Amino acid sequence: MDKLSATATKKFLDCTKNYHFQISKEYNSFPNLGNEKLYIGNLVHFVLEKYFEELNTISNRESIEKIAEKFIVLKNSGLSPDYLKTIDGTVIISKILKIIKAVTSIDQFETYNLETEYEFPATDLFKGKIDLFMISKSKIILIDYKTGKFIDKNTNDISPSIKNQFRVYQILASKKYPDREITSILIDKNGKKFDILFDELELIHLKDEITRRRNLFTDNKFEYGDSSTCFNCSYAAYCEKYQFDEHNEIEEKNFNIQASVLDQKEENGSLILNLKTSIKKFKNYSIKLIIEKESIENQQFQIVDSQILNINRPYLLKQEDGFLFFKLGFGQITTKT
Ligand code: SF4
Repeated sequence: MDKLSATATKKFLDCTKNYHFQISKEYNSFPNLGNEKLYIGNLVHFVLEKYFEELNTISNRESIEKIAEKFIVLKNSGLSPDYLKTIDGTVIISKILKIIKAVTSIDQFETYNLETEYEFPATDLFKGKIDLFMISKSKIILIDYKTGKFIDKNTNDISPSIKNQFRVYQILASKKYPDREITSILIDKNGKKFDILFDELELIHLKDEITRRRNLFTDNKFEYGDSSTCFNCSYAAYCEKYQFDEHNEIEEKNFNIQASVLDQKEENGSLILNLKTSIKKFKNYSIKLIIEKESIENQQFQIVDSQILNINRPYLLKQEDGFLFFKLGFGQITTKT
């Protein structure tokens, strides 16, 4: 088994069977590329990377917009050329400015050397790349930006998986620089800083747990996720342990549908799949999934009749005459070859 990256560690701890699906070449996932939100995180990371790489001394709106424009004209940026003129675009630039301020206001910021997208030397278990690595003669600051959700709604604290991601960075950093004091900071999209503690015992525990799971994984023995991970799993349609849990369908957008394709047709630039599912709550309905062609462009997306699909977080468009019409939402569609 390959070394785990900081982000893969989260998935490995949630469910090793899910990790097995992810690294298998038999499964393909297709995100909705027509969804602008998919690209916002990339835009924020790109601008911050370029900004700290060049370490401009002026962080005014104009200089940030110039960097953002560079991202938008890139092929596959996914954002419209006018994005920065929209309200959403204006808001994002303000948020980037706040994140820059959060970093530059760190105590004695000017005494640190900065490396963006810093790749740590790997250890026997882990590898990892962090958004911003700051180093001085006696200290290291590890910074990761999070534009998505990271608070666990049950504990109202940073989710354990994000903490584990930082623990992997801490393990990698302390291995290379055992003599430096390490501080870890998560910065959210509004520039709010969250300190992640460096706890030696937690790091030992993480290493032990990963080693234990790796040994089982190598013998094809899996540690399965629970309903809190399964309800959103892109491989649920192929997993022998998946059980539909109605309590987890908390919001319409969190549907996770396993279905087989009855037939398909193209209409007005969309692919319309007629689906059959065994999910009880949909038993009185026929299901149609509408996929706009542009949302799967350049992804070698191909579906054949009778194929089993997993449709993660589709958007419920309407309910009409015994039909439920869904559209690909923020999630993705997964197929098995
Ligand atoms: S459905 Fe659940 S147990 Fe199965 S792979 Fe997905 S997360 Fe793991």
